[in-house]
Amino acid sequence: MKLAARVEKVQPSLTLAIAAKAKAMKATGIDVCSFSTGEPDFDTPEHIKAAAKQALDEGKTKYGPAAGEPKLREAIAHKLKTENHLAYSADNVIVTNGGKHSLFNLILALIDPGEEVIIPAPYWLSYPEMVRLASGEPIIVPTDEKNNYKITPEQLRQAITPKTRLFILNSPSNPTGVVYTPDEIKALAEVVVEKDIWVVSDEIYEKIIYDGAEHLSIGAVSPQAFDRTLISNGFAKGYSMTGWRIGYLAGPVEIIKAASTIQGHSTSNVCTFAQYGAIAALTSPQDCVEEMRQAFAKRRQVMLERLRAIPGLSCPTPDGAFYLFINISKTGLTSLEFCDALLENQQVAAIPGIAFGADDCIRLSYATDMSTIEKGMERLDKFVRSRI
Ligand SMILES: *Cc1c(COP(=O)(O)O)cnc(C)c1O
Repeated sequence: MKLAARVEKVQPSLTLAIAAKAKAMKATGIDVCSFSTGEPDFDTPEHIKAAAKQALDEGKTKYGPAAGEPKLREAIAHKLKTENHLAYSADNVIVTNGGKHSLFNLILALIDPGEEVIIPAPYWLSYPEMVRLASGEPIIVPTDEKNNYKITPEQLRQAITPKTRLFILNSPSNPTGVVYTPDEIKALAEVVVEKDIWVVSDEIYEKIIYDGAEHLSIGAVSPQAFDRTLISNGFAKGYSMTGWRIGYLAGPVEIIKAASTIQGHSTSNVCTFAQYGAIAALTSPQDCVEEMRQAFAKRRQVMLERLRAIPGLSCPTPDGAFYLFINISKTGLTSLEFCDALLENQQVAAIPGIAFGADDCIRLSYATDMSTIEKGMERLDKFVRSRI
């Protein structure tokens, strides 16, 4: 069958394939330890659910403005101003169907066919595919484990051509968990300003950081950086609201208006009563966020201790998110071979790094309970020792 060329250029999600296989094994009664999930394992906090239920009861069940409920746009702008030092008002914000959709809207609004988007690898697997769907050119810049998989200002500068429109920055990072320091962010901002390109900062994991790491939004570095920055964020990770599908894009009014037009002709508004849950998330005390963060911090500690005891594996210490990104090159296996064999032989599910543009690595998520972590890491240890 002939499909549109734009579809022929994109790959279905590899992460879903492994997760499906692990699920099928589980269904037949096999004791699988899964480190494959990309979402918090906690339920959404009660007060957020209560606010959405109340909105339902109050009849918030109709179409709303495509760009989002005015109260939510206000609350997001207030959050960005007070927490991130970004001088936005409600006009600078659009509420989208998840953080993923905010990036998709932005790329459709900004990128013409053939224009280049710089994406450091390892990357979140949807970035290059979104650019391809928009007929843009993803320019993948490989980073070095020795530099904790962070793109350097020199690497960024060298990747920029007259066709470059956008640089995608993700800190804390999925899949590596690394967090750029404020100084590193400032140095990248200088290049963005000097070369006059756009940067979108995907800050979906900003609330999940450890050991005193500091999250600085690139738009807060200088007025010149602010003028070239877009912020993509959402409620999925920090508030454990993945299924709610609420994210947002913030930036110059002209771009937000364009994104609203695209959204107005595609999905329209995000589920109206769900947006009231998001308002409650932002305007209530933030204890729930801190409690989940602390639970992740304990698991991270155990994961790292176990990992450091396994010979032949290495990973940067992740300062954020809930992933370890592990170099497996000493086993001589590709990431797919490694993950297949690990699942077959030890019933441990991990995501092959090739999905993120790094075939010598695997990703383990610690968004799971402590007993799975203990058991799964013991099995990983056994597997690796049998291979090297
Ligand atoms: C989870 C995630 C998102 C957004 O997820 P949504 O569920 O669409 O809000 C965006 N970027 C990264 C890197 C993610 O891991």
